[in-house]
Amino acid sequence: MIYLDNCATTRPRQEVAEALAKSIMEDFSNPSSLHSLGLRTEQRLKEVRKGLASILRVKEGEVYFTSGATESNNIALQGVIRKNLKRGGRIISSPIEHPSVKNVIAQYRDDIEVDYLTVNDKGEISLDEFKSLLKEDTFLVSIMHVNNELGTIYPVEEMGRIIRGTKTRAVFHVDGTQGFMKVSLNLKDIDLYSASSHKIYGPKGVGLLYKDSSVNFNPMTYGGSQEGAIRPGTENINGILAFGRAVRLMEERSKEEFEHVSLIKKALLEGILSKVDGVHVNSPENSSPYILSLSFKGIRGETLLHLLEGDEIYISTSSACSGGVSHVVEELGLDKDYSFGTVRLCFSHENSLKDVPYILEKFVKYVKELRDI
Ligand code: PMP
Repeated sequence: MIYLDNCATTRPRQEVAEALAKSIMEDFSNPSSLHSLGLRTEQRLKEVRKGLASILRVKEGEVYFTSGATESNNIALQGVIRKNLKRGGRIISSPIEHPSVKNVIAQYRDDIEVDYLTVNDKGEISLDEFKSLLKEDTFLVSIMHVNNELGTIYPVEEMGRIIRGTKTRAVFHVDGTQGFMKVSLNLKDIDLYSASSHKIYGPKGVGLLYKDSSVNFNPMTYGGSQEGAIRPGTENINGILAFGRAVRLMEERSKEEFEHVSLIKKALLEGILSKVDGVHVNSPENSSPYILSLSFKGIRGETLLHLLEGDEIYISTSSACSGGVSHVVEELGLDKDYSFGTVRLCFSHENSLKDVPYILEKFVKYVKELRDI
């Protein structure tokens, strides 16, 4: 099997699966319980939080565990938007955010003005346009770090500095799901940051939200005082501990992995461009090495996906969360002849350079066959 759908989700590492299995039996006590079993679990939870805070270079009390990036994005965005509803104001975002950002903002379109940044045919934005859109009454900016369909990396550190340098009251949220532990980022000028465990070989159903202590908002759900009461409910302690294991392994191996996936992406891209005509490369040159988006003229990405699946090569057309031509590909302004033929390849440490010739052979074969039909 050649699994190239690592943006949708990754296979947990063996060590993570083992940590999870062990923890389910051992760490069953509620971290809020006052007895020693509860205290032990609470201590373990604290250690993971501490480790994450140190990696993100933020305070321990600023890291909150959630059920994933969708929830982190919702808590962050709805928290800030609701706080500003009465006063009103503007939001800046891009039209190619993940649905867990895009659809949250869309919910408030009747009450709040939204300024969308323009994107080019590779999903890139302009900092000059961003500066011009940033107004005194802009209260929220939400931009992802790495686009999940294209791999485009956004200049979020620079955007944070720009926001800090203006008089706006804007809070800056970054959806870091596809960049977390993969593409380096300094959170110094970022107020809110979301990430997910299952994109870095951790279990599903766990994520994190970093919230700068200066940002205050009400929770979306009400309950106990867990996670600073912004994410109440008994913590997914076993998932969090396994997430902690995945993070530590990523920390040890991410540099090596970055180089590994860069080589695979380069070899595949060069191979496809030299063997197939009529291809639009949607990923910019300096995009995340983990993601390659290509649009093949005159074919359907979905048909190509199913043909490759017959040879146990697993890819995706765009994001796992959308069907047909996604809103991201739609925004690139490609000719329809190309946009329907969009596929996304996402790499991991499990892929091998040795598989590249086989993948290329299958791509060339099926694209030709589909075009002949
Ligand atoms: N944001 C981005 C950029 C993503 O790629 C994803 C996952 N497809 C999410 C948010 C949602 O993450 P989760 O599955 O953890 O809710």
